[in-house]
Amino acid sequence: MIIDIIRRASIIVALPLMLASCSSDTDAAKPLSIEELNLINDGEGQMRVTTIDNHADSLLLRSKSTYFVDDDLRSEAYATLAARMVTTVTDPSQDGVGIAGPQVGILRRVVAVQRFDKEGEPFEVYPNVHIEAVGDEMAVGSEGCLSVPGMRGDVERYSKIRLMYTDPVSLMPVEEIVEGFTAVIFQHECDHLDGILYIDRILE
Ligand code: ZN
Repeated sequence: MIIDIIRRASIIVALPLMLASCSSDTDAAKPLSIEELNLINDGEGQMRVTTIDNHADSLLLRSKSTYFVDDDLRSEAYATLAARMVTTVTDPSQDGVGIAGPQVGILRRVVAVQRFDKEGEPFEVYPNVHIEAVGDEMAVGSEGCLSVPGMRGDVERYSKIRLMYTDPVSLMPVEEIVEGFTAVIFQHECDHLDGILYIDRILE
């Protein structure tokens, strides 16, 4: 979770780095398990946030997430998960701008992101998400994460990305270009889906 606004301290052009995360769609989709359904349906409102200082959580946070099957995207369970992720990240105790499935114990490619690039800055939820960098421009900003309590650090992120996900209503693939701080949030959250934490990317 990224807590504050990106600090555009430096812009580095022409770094031929590839995004390590969110660029693979080769992981097979599989139906939600009984355990996942139980976790999604075990209550209302916010879900417990996983943290790296808990051993079981840390193993989960370092695991790769899988894709949803279409039937699950149409299900009440998915709608419940999406709503509870937004409730969790917007709760005053968290007050974040993004959250990923593994942070609520669900190893699925789903993120909730606050769209600072849209009017009203709504939270939106993106299933079967992956992203790729557009261009070489990068910027450094300060990040924190609810799953890494008590820390912050500077991370370099791409300034522009291509966002790809499945529309949960039409089940059609959607593509969109996202820039600026919102693009940074997507990169942080999509890293979670590959078991990567921002502390892996902190600049020395
Ligand atoms: Zn995070």
